[in-house]
Amino acid sequence: MEKAKNILTSGKFVRAILWLAGVLAIVAVCMVLFLGRRGGDNVDAGGASSGSRENIVVVNVTAGDTLSKLLSEQGLGHNDINAIANVLKTDAGINGLRADRDKIEFLRDADGAVPSKITVVPGPWRRVELTCDAGGKWQCNAIDIERDTRLVYRQGEILDGDSFYLAGMRADIPAGILAEVYDLLAFEMDFERDVRAGQKFSVVYEENYRDGEKIDNGSVIVVSFDALRGNVKMYRFRKSDKTVGYYDPNGNGAIKSLKRTPINNAKITSSFTTRRKHPVLGFTRAHKGVDFRAPTGTPIPAAGAGRVIARGFNRGHGNFVKIRHNGSFETLYAHMSKFAKNVKVGTVVKQGQIIGYSGSTGLSTGPHLHYEIIKDGKHVNPMTVKLPAINNLDAANKEKFLEYRKTLDAAIEQMADKSGSFIQM
Ligand SMILES: [Zn+2]
Repeated sequence: MEKAKNILTSGKFVRAILWLAGVLAIVAVCMVLFLGRRGGDNVDAGGASSGSRENIVVVNVTAGDTLSKLLSEQGLGHNDINAIANVLKTDAGINGLRADRDKIEFLRDADGAVPSKITVVPGPWRRVELTCDAGGKWQCNAIDIERDTRLVYRQGEILDGDSFYLAGMRADIPAGILAEVYDLLAFEMDFERDVRAGQKFSVVYEENYRDGEKIDNGSVIVVSFDALRGNVKMYRFRKSDKTVGYYDPNGNGAIKSLKRTPINNAKITSSFTTRRKHPVLGFTRAHKGVDFRAPTGTPIPAAGAGRVIARGFNRGHGNFVKIRHNGSFETLYAHMSKFAKNVKVGTVVKQGQIIGYSGSTGLSTGPHLHYEIIKDGKHVNPMTVKLPAINNLDAANKEKFLEYRKTLDAAIEQMADKSGSFIQM
């Protein structure tokens, strides 16, 4: 109170008021600018927001949302909800909503009216518009949005003490692309033993643009790595039947039916050997698999597609899963802390599907994955066994592939010469 009185009695008070008025005026101008922008961007605004001019509400689908729940929240009745669900399924192949991916836009002709147009947005490249005709019938129109795809080239080098991951990040390769590259190379390389300082690598991948603005990354197109055993190179190629695969420069399938290292980036702590001193038992005994360091709870993916033929516990392996992949190959995963929920004996699994979680059950000194490959009933070294390719090319496709590869190689040469250049597809 004392202070206030002092201000009141001095000329400072007038100056303070003027200063405050000035600040408020600036804030007001900023708010007008900001709100004006928001009005225009309304369709892309996050969360549920309502626009003043367009009368559009955008709802981001989150966990627990269902189509009927979201439609009902927007004032649609039972019959409309059923009709919309049906037409989405039959005309657009949309069976349900995906949390944290799909968006729905609701357009109203007037405040408080039932939406006259509903647009399901499953991603940046597709819009599915639903409108109700005069007879009350819902119609569906799926629009694929044209994307401008650029091929970009990145190259890097492994430095002393580096991992491929670090070197890739330094080469400005996006994390998602880098993970895919790693998965591809893992079919041919052992990152533990094949990677040394001085090795060079390069990646060509797609960037997708819309109206000149980058929206997302597409596929990995070419990967090249100068490994110890020689250059590993893979090209993405679409066969005449539209299926896509990766092939080596000679057109041999690069995707193998099994992975040498089921867990990405896992360090090998013990190799395959016919004689070794067992860390727990103390006496010399063969190590019929490879041990990968993996903290308890690390998800363990199936090394290849197949059928689970054993899931259980024994004294040595602890909790283990065994998968039969084809007539000659089986894989075994041991010391798991727990199994994946839906993986049982008889379950058909895909390559990369999580079958369990690492642990230290059975005869084990610490959490790790013990991984075995059994070929024709005999244990083989996962790091050196020759693995069959999933799909090789027939003569006609091979010829097309070799032509395509030449074109790509020429393009890569151009891009490698000029850093930052790209090729418009
Ligand atoms: Zn082991």
